[in-house]
Amino acid sequence: MKFQMPVKVYFGLGAVKQHGSEMAQYGKKALLVTGKQSAKQSGAYEEVTQILDASHIDYCLFDEIEENPSVQTVLRASEFGRAQQVDFIIGIGGGSPLDAAKAIAIAMKNPQLEASNFFGQPPLEALPVIAIPTTSGTGSEVTQYAVLTDHLDQTKKNFGQSVFPKIAILDPKYTETLNEKISRNTAIDAFTHLAEGFLNANANPVSDGLALKGLHLFGSCLLAIEQGRYTTEVRESLMMASMLAGMVIAQTGTSLPHGMGYGLTYHLGYPHGLANGILFSAYLEAFSDKQKVQCMVEALGLKTLADLQMYLRRWTKVESDQMPTLEFVSNLAHQMASNQAKLKNHPEAIDESGLLEIYKASFGL
Ligand code: NAP
Ligand code: ZN
Repeated sequence: MKFQMPVKVYFGLGAVKQHGSEMAQYGKKALLVTGKQSAKQSGAYEEVTQILDASHIDYCLFDEIEENPSVQTVLRASEFGRAQQVDFIIGIGGGSPLDAAKAIAIAMKNPQLEASNFFGQPPLEALPVIAIPTTSGTGSEVTQYAVLTDHLDQTKKNFGQSVFPKIAILDPKYTETLNEKISRNTAIDAFTHLAEGFLNANANPVSDGLALKGLHLFGSCLLAIEQGRYTTEVRESLMMASMLAGMVIAQTGTSLPHGMGYGLTYHLGYPHGLANGILFSAYLEAFSDKQKVQCMVEALGLKTLADLQMYLRRWTKVESDQMPTLEFVSNLAHQMASNQAKLKNHPEAIDESGLLEIYKASFGL
């Protein structure tokens, strides 16, 4: 069994103010990597820059990370960082800026990288990364993954390099500015990490322990998510659940719904959490080890799989103009089945027709 979690984690209200000065050990100048608005809107940017000023660390800002960040944006940001001669990177935001920060950290150290050779490289060195999440969903602050949009291949994929942040600083108050829709979609993402990690070929006693704790916390938030009632306590539980989920998938990887959902995001614009969530009921239905599924359901504090499916159905409604066609999902199932690496974390046998059945059941096709 292997368990690797090299990220130093600070969690709690005021965590940046209390511990942010530790960033000084990584150099004299930082590149702040953010999306267009949320870092400032959430209050995280101001608190981080106050700490940097007080610690006499210089910084510059790249605030053009889009949702589902592309290789092209990462390359642009790394050129900027090189010109600015920064020593380390601070990612502030949802999974998109955090993943971009990790990829930029690699690209800055490896100027030979370009869009055409970005993926499939041997392990490369990276600049140090500090991760400060403003969503409770991806757990990227404690994972080694960076999921990027590859326009050349017309899909999203894991960069394939391992970049664990040096420090993750989580303050649930940064998530208070999330609207209801993003709060719910990101919470679904965290749940799917917990469940896919638990129902995973690589699950081990440590990852299962973290997953069960995360599922219990997520279960305590089900009603609040349903009612859109995000109290301070709920925000805190969701951020903790999301972080635990990140620690789980850092060991196990994700499984079928994530691989199947990327095409829905790339081609149809589904937010990441929604893409996974919409496939989840049928994925669980197709899972043969009913005992393990029931164990996951009970960890949520629910009685039956149908109880969970009821929530998922209500949270993952898709507009009619975003409905995929049978031909479209058949292509996705074919692509996924042609890449055995995408099936390997699923502990049971499944083929193209099994994948297609999950898509069809999810969309009533
Ligand atoms: P995101 O794409 O980072 O952000 C979604 C939206 O939420 C953006 O409009 C963003 O605004 C806004 N936002 C973020 N924080 C906010 C706040 N506190 N208040 C108000 N608005 C806020 O969303 P995400 O779901 O966290 O990340 C999804 C990405 O992570 C996907 O690319 C997915 O594939 C990846 N992912 C990575 C891992 C991993 O282990 N590395 C795991 C799962 C998913 P701005 O644009 O202004 O920032
Ligand atoms: Zn995810």
